Amino acid sequence: MTMLIDSHCHLQFVQFQDDRPQVLERAQQAGLSAIVVVGTDANDSRQALALAGAHPNLFATVGWHPHQAAEFDDQQRLALRRLAESPKAVALGEIGLDFYRNLSPPETQRAVFQQMLDLAGELRLPVVVHSRAAEDEVFAILSGWAAQVKGQWPQERPLGVVHCFSGDLALALRYVQLGFLVSIAANVTYPNAHRLTSVVAGLPLERLLVETDAPYLTPQSMRPQRNEPSFIVETVGRIAEIRAQTVREVAEQTSANAAALYGIALAGASEPPEKRDTR
Ligand SMILES: [Zn+2]
Repeated sequence: MTMLIDSHCHLQFVQFQDDRPQVLERAQQAGLSAIVVVGTDANDSRQALALAGAHPNLFATVGWHPHQAAEFDDQQRLALRRLAESPKAVALGEIGLDFYRNLSPPETQRAVFQQMLDLAGELRLPVVVHSRAAEDEVFAILSGWAAQVKGQWPQERPLGVVHCFSGDLALALRYVQLGFLVSIAANVTYPNAHRLTSVVAGLPLERLLVETDAPYLTPQSMRPQRNEPSFIVETVGRIAEIRAQTVREVAEQTSANAAALYGIALAGASEPPEKRDTR
């Protein structure tokens, strides 16, 4: 069985309320050994943590999405801080800037992003970053944060991940240089994904993650239905094709990358029984 991790989805969302057990069952059948459920505000992060608490293979992140920045206040910050200390909270996010939809004023988005980064530094949690139509500014802010925290960060551990990456290869390489991973979603399966294709081809496999961002971003062959973690197989297949590597190589390395980022111990990572000395 190939090892696979969906490094970013929103299983706590209402889109899964009617059939979550079946979705999890299909994920298991597809070979997913872990799923990271990503929070977007305090309430939603609490639900992500509750799900993670109920399933050994589920983990959660605690975050405040830039869309909701206008609703952030000190009370919410305290709530997030408490949630982020729970054992199954593996990262802070998603956080960032979204000047495409601009659902909260840019000034407010910047202030909340910075507060969340400060909290991540304080708790030494990696960050899950959302960046849309704000590429240069997000990179500049993360560069500043990286400089602050690097001294106290474990050598091998990535600082975070830029989720659903949509920039060009040059930007992806700058993120890698900075100590970040780059996460690829199913938009790489879309026919017009030329820029993302060169990102996937041009980065070391050790710096890539794979995610569904479910219920959003359904892979090409499953459109227009709701996305779910088991559909990650199509994205992994496309990445393997682009890189001329096997699906197994891509699945195993990207899972190891996700496990290292989030500090997840992979149960299936031990030697298979037939290799054990049976004398
Ligand atoms: Zn997301």
